[in-house]
Amino acid sequence: MALVDTFLTESDETAIIQAISTAEKLTSGEIRVHIEAGGDYENIVERAAEVFRLLKMDRTRLRNGVLIYIDMSHHRFAIYGDQGINEAVPDDFWSVVRDHIESHFKTGHFKDGLIAGITEAGQALKTYFPADDGDNPDELPNEISKGQ
Ligand code: CA
Repeated sequence: MALVDTFLTESDETAIIQAISTAEKLTSGEIRVHIEAGGDYENIVERAAEVFRLLKMDRTRLRNGVLIYIDMSHHRFAIYGDQGINEAVPDDFWSVVRDHIESHFKTGHFKDGLIAGITEAGQALKTYFPADDGDNPDELPNEISKGQ
């Protein structure tokens, strides 16, 4: 089994995808989770930004995608929001969400940490980018993406 498949169980993944779907019903924003084995990237936020672009998350209509990026080998993660949502939230917003995720991760509760992060990001997206009932396409897949 590849390393990236050991981070979450299948039922964890199902619960996380469900959390993304639930959050996205209330907002035009898009949330994704990407897990990779990791590399010797100096700056994890820059790597998260790169993955964000590789996943074409910078192409949403309102630039309101949010990525939770996980580097398994180095036990680190980042949360990265596109410019639309970044301009809307308070300056410390992502670091607060990050701390909440980390508090779960520290005790090995990866599913709970991800769901907490998805839920908090979803609430901010709902506030600043509420869903338009008639026009809320799922612009990006909710499935967890994985890299080497
Ligand atoms: Ca989606």
